[in-house]
Parts: sequence; structure tokens; C-alpha cells
Amino acid sequence: MTFTANRRRLLQFGALASAGLTAAPAFAAQPADRKMGYAIMGLGTYADVILPRFAECRHSRVTALVSGSMEKARRYAAQYGVPDRGLYTYDTFDSIRDNPEVDIVYVILPNGLHHEYTLRAAAAGKHVMCEKPMANTAAEAEAMIAACRAADRKLMIGYRSHFESNNREAIRVARSGELGKLRIVTAETGFNIGDPTQWRLNRALAGGGSMMDIGIYSLQAARYLTGEEPVSVSAVESTDRTDIRFKEVEDTINFLLKFPSGVVADCVSTYGSAHNRYRIVGTGGWLDAEPATAYRGNSLKLWKDGQTAAHPAPDLATNQFSGMLDHLSQCVMTGSEPIVAGEEGLRDMRIIEAIYASAREGRTIIL
Ligand code: NDP
Repeated sequence: MTFTANRRRLLQFGALASAGLTAAPAFAAQPADRKMGYAIMGLGTYADVILPRFAECRHSRVTALVSGSMEKARRYAAQYGVPDRGLYTYDTFDSIRDNPEVDIVYVILPNGLHHEYTLRAAAAGKHVMCEKPMANTAAEAEAMIAACRAADRKLMIGYRSHFESNNREAIRVARSGELGKLRIVTAETGFNIGDPTQWRLNRALAGGGSMMDIGIYSLQAARYLTGEEPVSVSAVESTDRTDIRFKEVEDTINFLLKFPSGVVADCVSTYGSAHNRYRIVGTGGWLDAEPATAYRGNSLKLWKDGQTAAHPAPDLATNQFSGMLDHLSQCVMTGSEPIVAGEEGLRDMRIIEAIYASAREGRTIIL
């Protein structure tokens, strides 16, 4: 088996491009001391995951914070070395245009606010990293792309799995032909959601339920493993509307995606139980990942030529978070397009809308 050799190739992003994967991240040589300034907007749970990772970045640093609470912003500023001149509320945010230390605004707000703040960031002349799902609707996503294009600013979606070593290896293997002709993807993502008052269960702030939040990982996996776009979707929703958590948004959606090559992806999205797995099966083997898209500790197993092998990914020099942050910084510096630009987020939004339509109307939707 050539796992070690493959791993070595994975470490060289140029090799990913030559394997025909998503365009190679722009990791062209840059002066080691050149760092783009990020403004982190929304100091919540995921910002707490992102902020410490700047310490590992080669081309990115935090220069501003945007929060509804100045007291909170000052606390974070002290922890991450952000100067007072880099602190904003949502009301004062537009004046960030006068801050030359900010190149990129990273929108880590509830989904329903991504559209407004991406537009405002672009209007302030800043590049944008926006969290998934890109927006509440495909129409909003289109407007975000148009605004960033009109302002000549980059727009990237925080699809961190594209920068995670196991996922990149899974993509490489799946698309290399090593598994034979690809036939079936199964992907499951979900968790048992708690607090019924949280924004994830509020339609205006979340745009929808589990599909928007966590099912999008199954959708992404089906798309990035195959490298294809689905031609049809059919979906079934199961939600207990007497459950206080699901007054406004859905709990579980099972969806089937058909791809042009004949691959079928059978996916689960749920707010009822814990899932984080995908599997892709071809005529000559399979790949199984569980957990597949966790923050750390992902695991990949490969079966081919009659043998099963764990396929552990060593820690890479760049983890998925710093890899993602530095990728956008390098795109800004080199003028190249992010591998997960706004258009990638829009493709997901269009498919999610078709999944919802299929579940609602009880029919297959042709894309
Ligand atoms: P949190 O609720 O933990 O944090 C969101 C923050 O947004 C709040 O702390 C608050 O920060 C700010 N905010 C502004 N307006 C509101 C409002 N009306 N209601 C609630 N919060 C508000 O959410 P997460 O950090 O978990 O999620 C934020 C985004 O990140 C979502 O789009 C989510 O999908 C995405 N995400 C992505 C992950 C990934 O792995 N890629 C993982 C987790 C989340 P402040 O008080 O500073 O204003």
C-alpha cells in the first residue's frame, strides 16, 4: 500500500492540484512577517474556537473585535492583544473602513445576520470570511457575492473541512480512482440540541433547523468527495412539532442526492442524536470517516485490495483552522480566489432550498 507516500503527497498542496482536486490553496511563498489583520465579529462559542488559532497562523493576526458588549470586547482584547482602537460595536462597525489594520472581517454571527454584515463589511472596503451556512437564503447569498464583487473584495465561506488533513486525503482517494467506480455515499451529521431558547431554533436568526446548521456538512461531504454537483434531490422531514424546541425549525431531514455519474448520496441531518460520519463506496473499495468533521481527532479507514487499514492523518504543520485563516490571507495577498469562495456557499444554499422544497412538496426536485 502507498499510504505513507500518499500522505507525503498530501503535505504538498501542489500535488492536490495535480490530482485534479479543488484548486490548490494559494500557498505561494510570502514574506514570513506579512500578516493580514482580521476583525472577529461575534464573540460567541465558535469565536472561542477560532481566536486561539491565530497563534499558529503565518499570515493572519487579530487586529479588531466586534461585539454587542464593549465589556466583553475589552476582556477578549486583553486576552488576544487587540488594541482599543480595534474595538467596535455593531453600531460603530461601519467606521472600521478607517482602520487600516483590518483587512478581513470574519462574520461569526447567527446565520440570519451573515447577509447584513457581509454587505456592510464589503461597503467598508474589507474582505470577508463568513461562517456557514452562508446566509438564510440563496437570494441573500447571491447579494453577498454581488456586493463583494462590486467592492472588489474577496468572499470566503468558513468551510474548514477543506483544510483538514483527513478530509483532504478522503477527497484525494475518492477522486483518484483507487476505490474503483464510485457508487454510494452515506453521510450523517447531527447532535441532540438543548436549550429551546437558543438562536439555532429561531427561524429568523437560523434560516432553518438542523439542515442549515449541521446537515450542511453531509451535503458538503457528498459534493467534495465526488467532486460532482447533484442533478436531483429528494427529502423527507421528521419533526415532532409538540417538542418545544421545534416550534419554528425542523429536527430531522433524510435526503438523497443523485449525481451525474450515477453516484447516489444518502444523507441524514438531525437535531435529535449525535452523528458525524461519512462513507464512500466504489466498485473496488471504501473509505469510512468517523468522526469525519470534528474540530480534532478525525478518523479515516480505507478498505481496498481485500485489506482494511486505518488511515491516520498526522498533525500537519497547519491545522484546519489556521490553514483556513491563512488561505484567505494569502488569497488577499496574491489576488487569487479562495477554494471555498462565496459561490461554493451559494451552491449549498440552492441545494438546501431544493431539499426543503422536496420535503415540503413530497416529490423529487430536479436541479
Ligand atoms: P453563538 O451563539 O455561540 O455566538 C454568536 C455570537 O454572535 C454571540 O455570542 C454574539 O456575540 C453575536 N450576536 C449578535 N447578535 C446576536 C443575536 N441576535 N443572537 C445571538 N448572538 C448574537 O453562536 P456560534 O458561535 O455557535 O455560531 C456563530 C456562527 O458560526 C453560525 O453561523 C454557525 O453556523 C457558525 N459555526 C460554525 C462552526 C464551524 O465549525 N464552521 C461551528 C460553530 C458555529 P457578541 O455578544 O460578541 O455580540
